[in-house]
Amino acid sequence: MSSPALAINFAYIISAALFIFGLKMLSSPATARRGNLLSAVGMLLAIVVTLFSQGLDYKWILLGIVIGSAIGLVAAYKVEMTSMPEMVALFNGFGGISSLLLAWGEYHQHPELSVFIGIVASLSAFIGGITFSGSMIAFGKLSEKIPSKAIIFSGQHIINAAILIAAILSTVFFAVNPQNLYWVFVVIVIIALVFGVTSVIPIGGADMPVVISLLNSYSGLAACAAGFVIGNNILIVAGALVGASGIILTKIMCKAMNRSLANVLFSGFGATVQAKGDGPQGEIRPATAEDVYYILEAADSVVFVPGYGLAVAQAQHVTRELGDLLEKNGTEVMYAIHPVAGRMPGHMNVLLAEANVPYDQLVEMDDINPKMDSIDVCVVIGANDVVNPAAINDESSSIYGMPIIETHRAKTVIVLKRSMNPGFAGIQNALFFAENARMYFGDAKASIQALVAEFKSGD
Ligand code: NDP
Repeated sequence: MSSPALAINFAYIISAALFIFGLKMLSSPATARRGNLLSAVGMLLAIVVTLFSQGLDYKWILLGIVIGSAIGLVAAYKVEMTSMPEMVALFNGFGGISSLLLAWGEYHQHPELSVFIGIVASLSAFIGGITFSGSMIAFGKLSEKIPSKAIIFSGQHIINAAILIAAILSTVFFAVNPQNLYWVFVVIVIIALVFGVTSVIPIGGADMPVVISLLNSYSGLAACAAGFVIGNNILIVAGALVGASGIILTKIMCKAMNRSLANVLFSGFGATVQAKGDGPQGEIRPATAEDVYYILEAADSVVFVPGYGLAVAQAQHVTRELGDLLEKNGTEVMYAIHPVAGRMPGHMNVLLAEANVPYDQLVEMDDINPKMDSIDVCVVIGANDVVNPAAINDESSSIYGMPIIETHRAKTVIVLKRSMNPGFAGIQNALFFAENARMYFGDAKASIQALVAEFKSGD
């Protein structure tokens, strides 16, 4: 190995170490920001030293940087916090198509591939293609540009299995004699793009975040394969890290919903939506800001349970302000976070961290549930499915088995939402009709602002 190549590989080892330490630090809110920065420094180092590789054509690289940075910058400023999963879907898709194009470009330039490189090139193209088209469908479903419900077609599993077998056969056929089989490579690309569509279309919008996490893992695997194609060590390592972390996250999300990955991918969850008027019914007990103020003012312990509605309303700052006022009033304040509250893992943690909610006030579902009977008031802010008791006491419910934050066991539950509309799973919630529940209707931010005003005027 020449000395510049040695130096580049040495820098890659440092980059890889920075990625790994950065990832480790992401596991705690206290160190996550530094972890992110560390990984970003690792990436910068990897990019800079790669630019010293021999034989690069800088004008194309510069063009790519300019176009990519412009799109990324506009997207980062424009995309709402609630649309983050859509943006992640797009980014995964672009990652996938880059790996596909990289393998294709390499094959186009050097068709005399060895069997091993032939295999990794077709894997890179196949996984990259699935990631691209699958991510575009996931993006379309999440942004409701295409119907978000599961689209089931007859013979779906057989067709998907046939496509997969065709892909495996094509890969083997191609890898044995890559020089003369350009058309087979093109067939692999087409199969991959079709398979991405047919495998994601039958999955309902409610499961899209899991699919996105899985596609994130695929984009890593495609990059890893692409790393082997062009012999780039940092691409292999970074791709493997993304592949592994994506699959771990997918597993965590499935566990939090008490579903298997096979159930998410193949069951067509969400193909049927509960009809209006189905599900639990009864009398609700609406409350005004003043009613809620008196309940909170008298409470010794209050647990906030944020959900997707908190993100929609951007109510995190005002919630913290209310929490501070309650603490000043001598109340013990906690924030209980469900692992799949919101629309992506860690969604609520990010919002509460943005509002500087102290980490020691955050409690996990498994820690708060055993204490629930002794909690005076649970304030459910725009959460619905993650507090739906049907998950533990209605075997016929589509969310049966999903662990929930058991707010219905608290002495009083106050539910902040705008209407009686269901949450993401599309099912009604018996909690709203419980005797200890009060419905405080309105936009979460405005509702909490009204409570803050009540506390301030009561001082
Ligand atoms: P839900 O989607 O169940 O409920 C959100 C509630 O917020 C709605 O009932 C809505 O009621 C209310 N809401 C919306 N906007 C506002 C507003 N401006 N002010 C007040 N309330 C508002 O959210 P949860 O967080 O409880 O559950 C998350 C769901 O997403 C689960 O089904 C979970 O399985 C699913 N999911 C999450 C993933 C993740 O990683 N986080 C991954 C996969 C799935 P209304 O319209 O009446 O206001």
